[in-house]
Amino acid sequence: MLPEEFRRVAHEVVDWMTDYLAHPERYPVLPRIKPGELMDALPHCGPDQGEPMSVILEDFRRKIIPATTHWNHPGFMAYFSTSASGPGILGEMLTAALNSNGMLWKTSPAVVELEQVTLEWLRRWMGLPDNLFGIIFDTASTSSMHAIAAAREMIAPAVRTRGDGAGLVLYTSEQSHSSIEKGAIAIGIGQENVRKIGVDNAFRMRPDALNDAIEQDRTRGRRPFCVVATVGTTSTTSIDPVPEIAAIAERQGLWLHVDAAYAGSAAIAPEFHHILAGAERADSLVTNPHKWLFTPVDLSALYTRRPEILRRAFSLVPEYLRTADDPRALNYNEYGVPLGRRFRALKLWFVLRYYGREGIARLVRDQILWAQELARQVDEDERFERMAPTPFSVVCFRRKGSNEENQALLERVNESGEVFLSHTVLNGIYCLRLAIGNMATTRNHVQRAWELVRAAV
Ligand code: PLP
Repeated sequence: MLPEEFRRVAHEVVDWMTDYLAHPERYPVLPRIKPGELMDALPHCGPDQGEPMSVILEDFRRKIIPATTHWNHPGFMAYFSTSASGPGILGEMLTAALNSNGMLWKTSPAVVELEQVTLEWLRRWMGLPDNLFGIIFDTASTSSMHAIAAAREMIAPAVRTRGDGAGLVLYTSEQSHSSIEKGAIAIGIGQENVRKIGVDNAFRMRPDALNDAIEQDRTRGRRPFCVVATVGTTSTTSIDPVPEIAAIAERQGLWLHVDAAYAGSAAIAPEFHHILAGAERADSLVTNPHKWLFTPVDLSALYTRRPEILRRAFSLVPEYLRTADDPRALNYNEYGVPLGRRFRALKLWFVLRYYGREGIARLVRDQILWAQELARQVDEDERFERMAPTPFSVVCFRRKGSNEENQALLERVNESGEVFLSHTVLNGIYCLRLAIGNMATTRNHVQRAWELVRAAV
């Protein structure tokens, strides 16, 4: 592609992006297509001869967009709602243009050093301790898997060489994200060795049950090695009692990982600093700027105060990657599975600078207020009931009635194309889950969603 063609098409693409971001609500939030429909509409083989960009972009508009779920739609309130903010998108565009690979400091100092700088800024804003090492991965699932591997390295270093991890046990709550169990599967701990600790009536891990489970395993000759606590669980956003869990992990000599993938961003607002109480005692913590920090997917930040253990778990340096030793030249590939590393920090740097700490705190704070207002409205409407406390921007609720009635209600609401809510099951009861997190969402959109739910009963 010659520079002039690139310039012309790039302007056209940016114009399309600008219109799209200005009016995402022109599209139904959920695409109205059946599985396989897009595949059927596309050729089975790639073209032998190249095609003009005008034809490719026309197909993007006519075929790809109608098959897209619009995460940037203000009515997207399913799962954890996220945003690709303007500065984040621009950062991502430049990342693609540079195509720098930060596998070593030498292969792109900017990738490595901006990652260190942005994670240091974020660490300070979240009020985390100053002895933390930060590293960016694609997702929280990958970040947590690395934390679990570091925990294993601390307790059972021979596993790295001999592969013998027999008896190792990981503890997490029955409300923790599936990525924790998956991380344990991935590094060979085995699903049977993941203990799902019970929760209290606010869906928080019970420290007494955790302690009992560890003691029982020790009596049976097992090797407890890791506890994972969650700040902002996926179903209800509950906050595990991290200080009590940290005390147990310390007494038992276990690695403590805190999964703050969603809620960590809230700690940027000073009045929410307290949600990370106890996290200063954790060995590692994950937070996802691609969830609630207005950064396009993907970008997950893993912090650890024991980088030397993470490095011991993963460092493997073949001759062709050897570089001169310099304590200031960080080779991030030694701290994880991936060798190649995208320049993800650039978009985070743009976002943090463009909005500033106070701008981000304001966005997060407003979204929490709108969720709490909705929670009150649910409480006041006798046809509905709230199924969990609302500490952040997610409301779990249901109409009084059967699981099937609630499932049907959710389908009717989502058919509107105006909003997309998701569901969860708590204590066997099906509930609707409304998650606020997109920066295009306003109080009016939340109120409109509530109106649609009430009208669909
Ligand atoms: N941890 C929590 C608490 C989550 O809610 C999620 C996803 O929603 C994850 C981890 C996994 O995040 P990712 O998609 O970045 O792997």
